[in-house]
Amino acid sequence: MAAVETVNGPIDVEELGRTLIHEHFRTHDEAMRFQFPHLYDDEHEWNAAISDAHAVKGHGIATVVEPSAMYLHRDAGFSKRVAGESGLQIVLATGIYTYDHLPQALLSRNEDQLADIFVHEIENGIQGTGIKAAFIKCAADEPGLTPNVEKVHRAAARASNRTGKPIMAHSRPASGTGPEQMQIFKEEGVDPAKVQVAHTGDSDDLDYIERLLETGCWIGMDRYGIDIYLPTDRRNATMLALLERGYADRMFISQDFCSTIDWFPREIQEYLKANEVPDWSMTFIFEKVIPELKERGMTDAQLDQMMVENPKGWLGS
Ligand SMILES: [Zn+2]
Repeated sequence: MAAVETVNGPIDVEELGRTLIHEHFRTHDEAMRFQFPHLYDDEHEWNAAISDAHAVKGHGIATVVEPSAMYLHRDAGFSKRVAGESGLQIVLATGIYTYDHLPQALLSRNEDQLADIFVHEIENGIQGTGIKAAFIKCAADEPGLTPNVEKVHRAAARASNRTGKPIMAHSRPASGTGPEQMQIFKEEGVDPAKVQVAHTGDSDDLDYIERLLETGCWIGMDRYGIDIYLPTDRRNATMLALLERGYADRMFISQDFCSTIDWFPREIQEYLKANEVPDWSMTFIFEKVIPELKERGMTDAQLDQMMVENPKGWLGS
């Protein structure tokens, strides 16, 4: 049986249980926090994270996959504390979350040297904690597959090939990045069944999604509640169409919720939350989405496939 690394050490894939594949208990830029700590509120962040952790546990979730990476706040100690207080199992990644920028220290390293860094975190642990990364994260967004982004993708691919660990690739369907990302992985010889293309559910273009599925990857229908990218009714219609076409064994359902995030000043964040993404939370799918999908024909077996079997399949791949 394959083992999956969590913040509390390896577990058998069978122990993952009901899993949220893409949520964040804290997100911010590490350099901002280190240089300007007065902008951050530890207590507020902790309270938001732990309250979300307890809430998802209350909905029967056993495991949360937290695909944070460099530039998106990854703090293995913080995640371990959330797991310890809530009883959740939390699974962490290695990797870099950038749409283009890389620091000089990484510009001066090649793909293989970058892969060495990822492999270190898979084999020895993250940030000196001994908590090992279970998968590798990379991202492509509006700027597309720039040379820096391509370098990170090739490094992720090589780290995957060296360790057997799966990859999660943040994508932007509006820019058509998914197939291009899969092309790089293919060139590097990665088994497509190890790759999850996150945020595919931001599109309701079934042709685009099926073209991506034909490459053999998993897809994340993982931003429920982020209406500014695609409103819930269109996400649901897409989900139901894909279930109808037999893709339950290739999809994940999640919210990409961030218990706290520093992308905007706090007052603007509060305005956006109230006006632009009022439904976005770590429990929205349990409260509104899953009941509606069930009413419209999604079976319990399809839901279990997406929330229990597919996480085992991808993380244990
Ligand atoms: Zn995310």
